[in-house]
Amino acid sequence: MNQPRVYNQNMSLESSSISIAIKREDLIHPFISGNKYRKLKFNILEAKTRNASVLLTFGGAYSNHIAAVAAAGKTYGFKTIGVIRGEELADKVSENPTLSFAKEQGMEFHFVSRTSYREKTSDSFIANLKVLFGDFYLIPEGGTNGLAVKGCEEILQENDFNFDYICCSVGTGGTISGLINASQSHQKILGFPALKGDFLQADICKFANQDNWKLITDYHFGGYGKIKPELITFINQFKQRYDVPLDPIYTGKMMFGIFNLLEKGFFPKNSKILAIHTGGLQGIAGVNAILKRKKQPLIIL
Ligand SMILES: *Cc1c(COP(=O)(O)O)cnc(C)c1O
Repeated sequence: MNQPRVYNQNMSLESSSISIAIKREDLIHPFISGNKYRKLKFNILEAKTRNASVLLTFGGAYSNHIAAVAAAGKTYGFKTIGVIRGEELADKVSENPTLSFAKEQGMEFHFVSRTSYREKTSDSFIANLKVLFGDFYLIPEGGTNGLAVKGCEEILQENDFNFDYICCSVGTGGTISGLINASQSHQKILGFPALKGDFLQADICKFANQDNWKLITDYHFGGYGKIKPELITFINQFKQRYDVPLDPIYTGKMMFGIFNLLEKGFFPKNSKILAIHTGGLQGIAGVNAILKRKKQPLIIL
């Protein structure tokens, strides 16, 4: 895979000595978005080395990871299988933008109940998948493994070392682990979990080789995929003001958090902040469909 193009955008914050730059990882590939590209890169190379022809992975109805694996499979010549949480989705594929996209890219779905989805890392569950689908290269839910962390280490480059803070959204912790490993010890990495739960700290420790990081757990908005009107308002205002689109599941929550911390005086004077835009914009269509049903304001594209 080619080294993607990166792009920094500096925003001036009126009446503040603090600067924020956004690293637009959302722009590095049209379909394999942001951090999912980074996480897949070395896994795809490994699958090729092993002569695998099938990639199998797991995800929910609106998963950025499912969309990315489907697109990567099509681009790099793998058949893809998505084990999807929720049996009820089997006859709703056409109503779901993420699953419709993955299907167009050639992904085959295997829908499972929420109960059996919880068993997805067990040996018996995987053995059963091998019976059903034959041999495959397995990519975990959210794509996080050692090779994914290695890929995320490539997000930071030399000209990023003059930032004091590096901020990213956190799902499974693979992306922040890569950023931590690639950072310099004078930098502080702040992770904004998009979900509730105490397991993340330990998961990140498995991959991270420095301790210059911290999770800011106040901005998950009630949990994974939970959305509040003030978040939508923030995302729409941000787009109008800075012309940068944010997604409501990950990057919107992170940026809301950064701005809230700024207001509270969390960052010292003259801080240089780098926010990683990890992508995820494909998820907006699905969220907008839900907001529309609830007759709530939509995210402006
Ligand atoms: C998957 C995803 C994340 C979370 O990445 P992890 O490596 O799982 O922590 C963050 N932002 C976006 C846009 C994502 O799609």
